[in-house]
Amino acid sequence: MTTYDVIIIGAGHNGLTCASYLLKAGYSVLVLEKRSVPGGAATTEEIMPREAPGFNFNRCAIDHEFIHLGPVVKELQLEKYGLEYLFCDPVVFCPHPDGSYFLGRKSIPATQKEIARFNERDAEKYGEFMDFWQRLISVTVPVFNAPPKSLIDIIGNFDLDNAKNLLSVINGTNKTLDLIRTMLTSAEDMLNEWFDSEFLKAPLARLASELGAPPSQKTLSIGAMMMSMRHHPGMARPKGGTGSLVKALLNLIKAEGGEVLCDQSVKKVLIDNGRAVGVAVEGGKEYRAKRGVISNIDARRLFLQAVDPADIDSADPNLRERLQRRIVNNNETILKIDCALSEPLRFENHQHSDEYLIGSVLIADSVKDVEIAHNDPNVGKIPLENPSLYAVVPTMLDPSMAPEGKHTLWIEFFAPYQVENAEGTGLNGTGWTDELKEKVADRVLDKLAEYAPNLKNAIIARQVESPAELGVRLGAYKGNYYHMDMTLEQMILFRPLPEIANYQTPIEGLYLTGAGTHPGGAISGMPGRNSARVFIHTQESFFRPLVSGWKTLQNTTKSLLSF
Ligand SMILES: Cc1cc2nc3c(=O)[nH]c(=O)nc-3n(C[C@H](O)[C@H](O)[C@H](O)COP(=O)(O)OP(=O)(O)OC[C@H]3O[C@@H](n4cnc5c(N)ncnc54)[C@H](O)[C@@H]3O)c2cc1C
Repeated sequence: MTTYDVIIIGAGHNGLTCASYLLKAGYSVLVLEKRSVPGGAATTEEIMPREAPGFNFNRCAIDHEFIHLGPVVKELQLEKYGLEYLFCDPVVFCPHPDGSYFLGRKSIPATQKEIARFNERDAEKYGEFMDFWQRLISVTVPVFNAPPKSLIDIIGNFDLDNAKNLLSVINGTNKTLDLIRTMLTSAEDMLNEWFDSEFLKAPLARLASELGAPPSQKTLSIGAMMMSMRHHPGMARPKGGTGSLVKALLNLIKAEGGEVLCDQSVKKVLIDNGRAVGVAVEGGKEYRAKRGVISNIDARRLFLQAVDPADIDSADPNLRERLQRRIVNNNETILKIDCALSEPLRFENHQHSDEYLIGSVLIADSVKDVEIAHNDPNVGKIPLENPSLYAVVPTMLDPSMAPEGKHTLWIEFFAPYQVENAEGTGLNGTGWTDELKEKVADRVLDKLAEYAPNLKNAIIARQVESPAELGVRLGAYKGNYYHMDMTLEQMILFRPLPEIANYQTPIEGLYLTGAGTHPGGAISGMPGRNSARVFIHTQESFFRPLVSGWKTLQNTTKSLLSF
């Protein structure tokens, strides 16, 4: 039996990123993936080969912003392995029922011009609003790109610009207190404070709610950064689909001598004398690891499904109960609709221009509709009265994803995992049946067709994936594609729990990565990179941390002196 230095459970993009860093550091790595396709929530697949051959669909993630806030693409030289990012401009289009619309361009001044067509005051305020968020994002970047308990790494990530921006947002007691107040408020409160027009507030609220909570949720005003990131660092898609990011990582892993095996569902982490020494997969086959096992699945799934309770209890008698009861997963997830189209959407009542289809199309008639879109799922209701949705025609930016002249349509619709009054029926007792998911999809497409009347006739084929089916595909609790909710009390030092927030666990040699660790879900590769750093530090001789600590101190002093 081959023994590896490290085994990684799960070939999500974070597991693969982690593997890439470890291989580059000289460790031998095996990645085990339960599905027959690697990538987790970052795959591109030809899902309807019979009805729509040659049409490729991003089954989950499509728009990449977070990954451009970190160094993963550059450090791993992913372009060399086939990755090419195509940046979007415009970045978002949201038609409003009264004929107005929000067209967000990459440039902030160009976006202000678009807003000024309908409201000059809001256009001016938009510039100030984005300036604040740009500075705040610059301050959070060093935190995102370091293990949350490694202060020295965080400080080491600050350069002159980050330091200047930090000072600008916490300059003086009142400014600091005001910043804290801003962080404690909700996206909705913030948008009401800054803007008047619904055509602008509704799409900004919808984007803020991509964190997976309604716009009214206190302590989540940070969601407002979701639009700001579309201006800088920008919003991009890998040429060929999100799966091209995964392909590039796989190419790198292969080139560095690593292995990725699919159809290998890990059932048990093997623990010997309190130390993780390998894993057993479905069917009983075992793989051994000399130095460690790293999990791309979240701590709750890992410990409660794949670790012997006696081993957990002897390492930390409280951990099982805390994982079970303290981690919060609300009932909201996604119903996904993918369509093959004979022609692109046309927004006839909004002076259609094909450029509207370059970025994401948001249907969000009002902040109230966005609120309902998130609140209803939490209590098991399907928000169908006036649906809000996020749609993309990826083939407008990247025609290579469909046969010549044809297009694809990607729709994300927030829906409950457990449908109210349907407990015990449908798939896994969630209430979701084929009939229900198709009915919901019909209503969602009807809503989109109110704005793009050519939609219905353009559909060649469609596939709908219910929240329950998404949950089965990803293996995540309640289909949570962020592995656990992205609310403030579960972020940074609290993700997934304070005692296991630095990618290490109480079981020696067992580590965490993935969306369920800092800084959380989305396509960023940051959890993979941070976790690899922690793993490497724990393996290295005692003087290495001193060397890196010294380097960090030198960089910080340099930045401060030049400041
Ligand atoms: C519909 C949808 C749209 C989205 N859109 C965006 C977007 O536009 N932009 C964005 O940034 N993010 C988006 N996201 C979120 C983003 O895709 C995820 O947060 C991110 O991909 C998570 O990556 P990960 O590597 O941490 O985990 P995952 O991708 O969940 O990877 C975990 C891997 O582990 C595997 N696995 C599970 N159990 C086992 C086991 N027992 N043994 C072996 N392997 C196992 C899984 O199959 C999977 O491959 C979207 C998500 C969804 C569902």
